Amino acid sequence: MITRFAPSPTGPLHLGHAYSALTVWDVAQKHGGTALLRIEDTDRVRAKPIFEDGIYDDLRWLGLEWPTPVRRQSDHLADYESVLARLGARGLLYPCSCSRRDIMGAGAKPGAEGLVYPGTCRIRSMDSAKPGDAIRLNITAALDQLGPLRSFVELASGQPVEHQISPAFLRDSIGDPVLKRKDCGDIAYHLACVHDDAHQKITHVVRGMDIWALTPFQVFLQQLMGWKTPQYWHHALITDADGKRLAKIDRAKALSKYRSERASPNDIRAMIGLPLSSC
Ligand code: GLU
Repeated sequence: MITRFAPSPTGPLHLGHAYSALTVWDVAQKHGGTALLRIEDTDRVRAKPIFEDGIYDDLRWLGLEWPTPVRRQSDHLADYESVLARLGARGLLYPCSCSRRDIMGAGAKPGAEGLVYPGTCRIRSMDSAKPGDAIRLNITAALDQLGPLRSFVELASGQPVEHQISPAFLRDSIGDPVLKRKDCGDIAYHLACVHDDAHQKITHVVRGMDIWALTPFQVFLQQLMGWKTPQYWHHALITDADGKRLAKIDRAKALSKYRSERASPNDIRAMIGLPLSSC
């Protein structure tokens, strides 16, 4: 069993990350597996070295260890470009110059991850790509290239539960996702994440429920690329006193703050309802 914790260094880690990381390592330990750490820093504006350093410090303080070298996605951009090239050669990509305002103006509806792209640029070929265009995956064309869709197994309930993926969900709730972002040219999270799960031979993806709705698309991308599908375990999310999910964007209290207030790793475990560690 190989699992991973894959934070984005876009802010300080908070109790929600501690829960996720400790769950990943606890699951690996329970099953005699290995937990890897991966730094998902393809967002070049928001990812910062200071947050990456904070990740190592916080996780070490929690008593976690991981094999090195750690895979940092910004060191492997050529891998993701080669995935794009393969999808492009199969006629599954198109360039898109639409702004958010264009997309809203075209009557886009909300889906699993923001607005579902209405397909304005779908008629364009990659030959017409201009610097600064986004690159989108043509979901309908991709569905046409595959036979029956794969299912995936969710383990969160303690029993394996098989989930079918519906083409209608992909078309209507995911739409044509961006694989390379407009203007900055950053590789989108899904592509890098799914590539690395396959490359690192991850057998169990343990992560928060916040990504649950996007898992069908990630499994679809695995099938499209001929990669194996791991089993999934989407754990519950840690919420604040008002029941709202902790988020970096709301400046949830940083783990380093608890540390400077002399909390112990077991205090953190107690706060988030995980069994205490004896070491
Ligand atoms: N990098 C993602 C995040 O920090 C997690 C992705 C994943 O675990 O698949 O939210």
